[in-house]
Amino acid sequence: ANNLIKIYQNGSEELKVLDDVSIQVYRGDFMVILGPSGSGKSTLMNILGCLDLPTSGQYTLDGLNVLEASDNELAEIRNKKIGFIFQKFNLLPRLTALQNVMLPLLYRGVKEEEALEAAKEKLTILGLGARLFHRPNELSGGQQQRVAIARAIVGNPQLLLADEPTGNLDSKSSEDAIRIFKELNQQGNTIVIITHDVEVAQQVKKIVYIRDGKLYENH
Ligand code: ATP
Ligand code: MG
Repeated sequence: ANNLIKIYQNGSEELKVLDDVSIQVYRGDFMVILGPSGSGKSTLMNILGCLDLPTSGQYTLDGLNVLEASDNELAEIRNKKIGFIFQKFNLLPRLTALQNVMLPLLYRGVKEEEALEAAKEKLTILGLGARLFHRPNELSGGQQQRVAIARAIVGNPQLLLADEPTGNLDSKSSEDAIRIFKELNQQGNTIVIITHDVEVAQQVKKIVYIRDGKLYENH
């Protein structure tokens, strides 16, 4: 992505949240984007994940010119290639943990039985084997976050975008989650984690810093 600018318009007020951000993510990267609250991290993730468009700039994802792509092309790339862990989880409240995790597979046309087994397996790895049939509001914050992690990785996404994936986890669960991300990365998946947790950042080689909408390679 090159020269990304994102301006939010609130009435007559303009807020420039990304100010000429350029970022290269290569296949197989494990990158952390570190920055304080309000620096533009989630905004950047939404753009990298093709959920939102920049006000201006260029973005090519896996050969696709995102700013000129059709809604269908963007939906296809999101459904098939990207796994999202949202800062606020975005779990569907009426579905059980298991159904939430099955969803990305069902979207892709995977058979129900197969989706069920895969979802069960991921939830069990994340320590939620006894919570399969709970709905999000029957789970703790950290458990909901782990459901969100399971949902993001169940389809073995080429690109995992994780927005504060350990924000609600105790240190043990946080380490477990990072280990799972590392395993995925070793299998060739590209991982971008957004965080303000320095301990998470210390565990990866590639760190970029964001402050007031500007990106820095070093502090
Ligand atoms: P945090 O660490 O608190 O999650 P962040 O780095 O993810 O912060 P963003 O959510 O990207 O920050 O927000 C950056 C700035 O843009 C903030 O000042 C926020 O208030 C503003 N902002 C975010 N989304 C919108 C929107 N849809 N409309 C207007 N302003 C927005
Ligand atoms: Mg955020």
